[in-house]
Amino acid sequence: MQHLYLHVPFCVRRCSYCDFSIAVRKRVPVQEYVHALLTEAAALPEGDFQTVYFGGGTPSLLPPEAIERLLRGVLPRATHDALRAIEVTLEANPEDVTPDHAKAWRASGINRVSLGAQSFDDTVLKWMHRSHDAARIGGAVHALRGAGIDNISLDLIFALPDELQRDWERDLDMALALRPTHLSLYGLTVEPRTPLDRWISRGATRVPDDERYAEEYLTAYRRLTTEDYQFYEVSNASLPGFHSRHNSAYWSGKPYRGLGPAAHSFDGTTRRWNLRAWEAYRRAIAAGRSPVESEERLTEEQRELEAIYLGLRTAEGVAVAALRRPSPPFAAQGWVVVRDGRVKCTPEGWLRLDSLVSELTMQTETR
Ligand code: SF4
Repeated sequence: MQHLYLHVPFCVRRCSYCDFSIAVRKRVPVQEYVHALLTEAAALPEGDFQTVYFGGGTPSLLPPEAIERLLRGVLPRATHDALRAIEVTLEANPEDVTPDHAKAWRASGINRVSLGAQSFDDTVLKWMHRSHDAARIGGAVHALRGAGIDNISLDLIFALPDELQRDWERDLDMALALRPTHLSLYGLTVEPRTPLDRWISRGATRVPDDERYAEEYLTAYRRLTTEDYQFYEVSNASLPGFHSRHNSAYWSGKPYRGLGPAAHSFDGTTRRWNLRAWEAYRRAIAAGRSPVESEERLTEEQRELEAIYLGLRTAEGVAVAALRRPSPPFAAQGWVVVRDGRVKCTPEGWLRLDSLVSELTMQTETR
């Protein structure tokens, strides 16, 4: 197992669109959390990891000493030099990035930070219930670089409700002016039981139509590719050599291990997931029980379908042979191209990914 994910479930508040497994806490129960995670980590198989990813939630709410203890616990044999070769990512909210925190993170082995920027417009950030303002984003990037963390990713959300009058091109300009090595772009989606879902149900807001979603996605695609960023996955673009090795492992079907509440693990055939709620996870670990909630063994056919779905999300695409169709559909519409024996989505294809995948996998099922 070469890829490790650690889920840190705590957030200071819930963002308006978020349905992740989080625990809203004013005070993070640091000692309990670190103890629970290291207890679960004791069962990790021997071996070294190529990537470690602290995701959440808001991992940057943990004090730097806790992050260091966790890293030492999951990478007991890693020397300082060995740590440099491992991609160690921390998801952080801009308001948590101070020069001191950044230095301490770097000293403990963090070498990549994914910042939840989302927008450079304070009205938008307020609407999202984010706890930072736009000015903090540039300050965070500066502090990270000052500490020697140059591999920085920014998350941005597009396709926001009309009434916010968000200027997407301005946000892209602001993000690109910071020259991050990586950008993740997510279209706003309405998840059940989120504040956004409730606002929509009572008619207080509505999400834009598919046309504007497509327009903003394609604007970002054009803008970023002109600035040397490569879209290596539908929602992710990087400067050459700075793709996320951790997330790329998911998309190429590699095994991974997850620790913490709601974390998933995959060994190549079976997917397991932990109890979702922090309290349930904590109680299970404290009682000496397994935190695994359930598991699913994938059939060969399921693995094949999943490989097609994940492959088409990436710029690598999938082998034509995997589809067993000499001439896949959608090439005429410009939604896919066939190159070097592989079918790859164009940006227009990525906009139709779900329907395109379901057509292509139907073809696979009925062959
Ligand atoms: S900070 Fe991230 S995980 Fe926490 S509520 Fe906001 S979007 Fe969700």
